[in-house]
Amino acid sequence: MKLLFLGSGTSHGVPVIGCDCAVCRSGDPRNRRTRASVLLRNGRATLLIDTPPDFREQMLRHGIRSVDAILFTHAHADHIFGLDDVRILCNWRKAPMPVYGRPDTLDQLRRKFDYVFETKDFTRGWDIPRLTLHPLDGAARISGVGVTPVPIRHGCALILGYRVGGLAYLTDCSAVPDEAMSLLRGLDTLVIGAIRHEPHPTHFSLREALDLVECLAPRRAFITHISHRLEHAQTEANLPPRVRLAYDGLEVEFPAPEDEG
Ligand SMILES: [Zn+2]
Ligand SMILES: [Zn+2]
Ligand SMILES: [Zn+2]
Repeated sequence: MKLLFLGSGTSHGVPVIGCDCAVCRSGDPRNRRTRASVLLRNGRATLLIDTPPDFREQMLRHGIRSVDAILFTHAHADHIFGLDDVRILCNWRKAPMPVYGRPDTLDQLRRKFDYVFETKDFTRGWDIPRLTLHPLDGAARISGVGVTPVPIRHGCALILGYRVGGLAYLTDCSAVPDEAMSLLRGLDTLVIGAIRHEPHPTHFSLREALDLVECLAPRRAFITHISHRLEHAQTEANLPPRVRLAYDGLEVEFPAPEDEG
């Protein structure tokens, strides 16, 4: 299967509005980071993880016309506020969009997008996203793809990462509970969020992310959800060879779940 990084930035995005730092002024496109989101596809199914405020631009940039399901990690603003633009995908497919996540994440979507769930006025056609909500409490087949939710800590909150075959996508992570470690054995590709060098209350620092990489020993790892404190080339020069910084538009292959070839 293929993993496409639609966005690799932290909540502000990079460049940060009003910031004149070297990373925000950089001409290297890898230092331009829209908010974190990835697309997983295998030729039969296309799964999207999160709908950041940059969702529309990300779809256009990569010419993506259809998505089969959306998986949410959590309901923070930088991961959900592109959701309204999903309505055009519903319109093209003339069917609701299946949405997966923790029950509390789906409750937050209901509250934050009340107009989507409270409208009875279907004469409005496809002016609003039509969503079907599917709470996840364990491994599931989503559009024919085996997906295992991985509970991780994001500060005090429990949120979800996702494992699909040889890939684990863990963004906005500040700790991995013991019970989740067993879901992360034998990884080919680990995607792990790290915001900057300095510690942060709700995100791994780069050092903490590297410690997790060492502990899980995947074949390779990519850092995502990156702030303007990490310059791409300089930071990569000091990373172990199997760890790279993700950047918007990077696409890599990973082993599909076993029964899917
Ligand atoms: Zn975030
Ligand atoms: Zn900056
Ligand atoms: Zn968050």
